[in-house]
Amino acid sequence: MSFLIQDIEFLKGVGPVRGEALRSELGVKCPMDLLQQYPFRYIDKTKVQLINELKADGDIALVKGQLITLEKIKGKNNRHRLSALIKDSSGFLELVWFQKIKMLEEILKEGKEYIIYGKVNVFGGKASIAHPEMEEFQNDVALHQTFDPVYSSTEKLDGLGLDAKGRRKLVKNILEKVSPADFPENLPDEIVARLKLPTRFETIHWVHFPKDEAQKMHAHNRIKFEEFFFLQIQMLFTKATRKLTLKGEIFENVGPIFNTFYSKHLPFELTNAQKRVIKEIRSDVGGGKQMNRLLQGDVGSGKTIVALLSMLLAIDNGYQTCLVAPTEILAQQHYATISNQLKEMEVKVAFLSGSIKGKPRQAILEQLAVGDIHILIGTHAVFEEKVVFKNLGLSITDEQHRFGVAQRASMWGKTDHLPPHILVMTATPIPRTLAMTLYGDLDVSVIDELPPGRKDIVTVHRYESHRPRVYEFMKEQIANGNQIYVVYPLIEESATLDLKDLQQGYERLLHNFPRPDYQISVVHGRMKAKDKDFEMDRFVKKVTHIMVATTVIEVGVNVPNATTMIIENCERFGLSQLHQLRGRVGRGADQSYCLLMSGDKLSNDARTRIKTMCATNNGFDIAEVDLELRGPGEIEGTRQSGVTSFKLLNLIKDQRIMTVARHLAEQILEDDPTLELAKNIRIRNYLRATQKNGGNWALIS
Ligand code: ADP
Ligand code: MG
Repeated sequence: MSFLIQDIEFLKGVGPVRGEALRSELGVKCPMDLLQQYPFRYIDKTKVQLINELKADGDIALVKGQLITLEKIKGKNNRHRLSALIKDSSGFLELVWFQKIKMLEEILKEGKEYIIYGKVNVFGGKASIAHPEMEEFQNDVALHQTFDPVYSSTEKLDGLGLDAKGRRKLVKNILEKVSPADFPENLPDEIVARLKLPTRFETIHWVHFPKDEAQKMHAHNRIKFEEFFFLQIQMLFTKATRKLTLKGEIFENVGPIFNTFYSKHLPFELTNAQKRVIKEIRSDVGGGKQMNRLLQGDVGSGKTIVALLSMLLAIDNGYQTCLVAPTEILAQQHYATISNQLKEMEVKVAFLSGSIKGKPRQAILEQLAVGDIHILIGTHAVFEEKVVFKNLGLSITDEQHRFGVAQRASMWGKTDHLPPHILVMTATPIPRTLAMTLYGDLDVSVIDELPPGRKDIVTVHRYESHRPRVYEFMKEQIANGNQIYVVYPLIEESATLDLKDLQQGYERLLHNFPRPDYQISVVHGRMKAKDKDFEMDRFVKKVTHIMVATTVIEVGVNVPNATTMIIENCERFGLSQLHQLRGRVGRGADQSYCLLMSGDKLSNDARTRIKTMCATNNGFDIAEVDLELRGPGEIEGTRQSGVTSFKLLNLIKDQRIMTVARHLAEQILEDDPTLELAKNIRIRNYLRATQKNGGNWALIS
C-alpha cells in the first residue's frame, strides 16, 4: 500500500493529536488528502513592497524589513499584546499580536530582517498588520521558493503548529517521497498532448510549490480541467448508459385526448418554440428509452402548456402523470388552470399537498393506486413514499431548481413498471455553465421565444420620496381597469419584522386607497391555506385591485390583468427573485410596469441588481449577472446537488476550460459510449477508482 493512502497520523511530523485535528478540521485522512488540499493563495516573494506604498486598508502586503523594537504592552482590559516596529528604506510598519505572545517573544529577534506578509490596516495614515505571517529573511535566494503556498486553516490547526509554515513543511515532506508512479496519467495521451497539460506528477508539485507564475497556471489549468472533465464524463456516461440500458414506457399514439384538446380547447396558437419542444418530447417518449429532459424557458415563455400537452400524450397511452410545483400557491394555480382547460374532457385531475389530510387524502391515494386519477398536481407531498401510482408514465417538476436531485430520483420508485419519463422545468433560466454542471446528465430543450404580442415590461427604480407619485400612478392604472401587485420581502430570520413591514404597508395603502372605491387583498406565508385561497381568488376574479403579498406569489402565479408590480425594499431581493417577481406582470396585451422601491442606502451589489433589472427583460442575461454577483454556491439548488464542490474550478471565471472539457467529454462518449476502447481505458479506470472512494456517481436507480 502506498504511504499516500495510509493514516495521516503516521506521516512524519503528524502523530495522533495533529492527525485527529487534520481529520476533524479538514477531513484529511491520509497524505493524499493533504496533497489535494490546494493552496488558495500564494505569496509571491518577488513582489516585495515598500512600507510607504501600503496605503489602502485591507490590502495584502508583502514587505521586507528590519525588526527595530519588540514590546509587550498591557492593554486597558488587562490583556497583553505584542507590538513590533519594522523598518525598511521607506518607513515604519507596526505589527501586533494578541495571541501566542510568549512563543513569539522567544523567536523574534530585534535587529534581524524578516519577510512579513498580511492584511494591512491603515489608521490615521499609519499602516499596521495584525497577526502577520513572518519568516526570517535569508540572503540565499536558493533557499527560497518564489511562491509560498497559503492554505486555508483553522485556529485549532494553527495552535497545533499546522499554520501556513507547518502545513508547507508537511506537504514538502510528502512531496519529497512521492514518485511519478504514484500519479499515473488518467487522461488519454492525445488529450494531454493536445491541451499541452503537464503530467500529474508535475501538477501536484507545481500546485503547491510553483517556481513561477507559468508553473502555477499550468498546474491550475490541469486540475480545473480534470475537475470538470471527469464530472462531465460521469454525467454523460450516466446519460449514455441510461439510454443504452433503461427502457422507457413507449407513448406510441397521439390519441383522441391529445388531439381533441389540441384542436378544440387549446387557448392559443403555440409558438414555434413550444411546437419544437413538444416534438422533442414526443420523440423522446416514443423511442422506447426513458426521457430525462430539462425544459428551460424564460418567465412567461409558456412552459405550462407544454407540460399539459405532454401529460395528455401520456394519458392517451394509458398512463398516469404528475406535475409537482415548489409552493402550495403555485401548485394550486396549476391545478386551477389545468382543471379549467380540461373541464370539457374526460380527464380526471386531482390535487395533493401537505394541507390535504385525512379522508380526502386517503381517497386520492386510493384512486391513484387503482389508476382512476390521470393527472396529479401537487407540492413535494407527491414525493412522499405513501404516494403510489398504478402506472406513472411521466413525472414533471416545475421550477426544479428548488428541488434536490434526490427528489428527482425519488419519482423512479413510484411505479413498479419501468421508470417514468422525467421532465424538469426551470423557473428562471440558468447560465449555461451552471446548467452543464447541475443538469449535465439531462437532455435540454429551450423555449427561446415569448408568446406574440408581449411588450417588454418597463422597469424603473424609485425611492421613498417618490411614493406620492407612485400612488398617483397606481390610481391611473386602476382607473384603466388593471390590477397591481405590491410585494414585500419576507425572510425567515427576520420574519416578525418583515410581517410588520407588510402590515404597515398594507395600512398605508388602505389609507391612500380607501374603500369602497378601492379593494385590497393580502396574502402571506403565515396565513392559513384557506385564507390565502380566498384572497387569491378575489384578486383573480378582479374583486380586488391591489394584492399585497410576500414572496409567496413569486413563482408561477398567473393573473394577466395585473400589469403593475411594485417591489418594496427591492434591495433585499436577489436578482433572479426580482426577475421571477417581475414575471408576474406582462402577461396580457397591456403595457406592464415594474417599480423597484428602495431606501437611499444601497450596497454596490444592490445597485448592480437594480440597474440590471432596469436595463433588461432577458432572463438568460440576468442569470449570468446573478451568477457573477452571488457565486455558484448561492444559486438555489446548487448546494443540495453537491456537484459544485470544485476545489479550484470557478464556474464564472473558468468558462473556457469548462467548454473545452465538456466538448471533449461529449466527443469521447459519442465515439465510445461504454468507454471500452483501449485509448479510453485510463478514464474508465480513474472513474472506477473515484467511485470506490465514495464519489457519489452511482447511476440513479
Ligand atoms: P411560464 O413559462 O413562466 O411557466 P406560463 O406557462 O405560465 O409561463 O405562461 C405564461 C402566460 O402565457 C400564460 O398566461 C399562458 O396562458 C400564456 N401563453 C403561453 N403560451 C402562449 C402562446 N403560445 N400564445 C399566447 N399566450 C400564451
Ligand atoms: Mg411556470
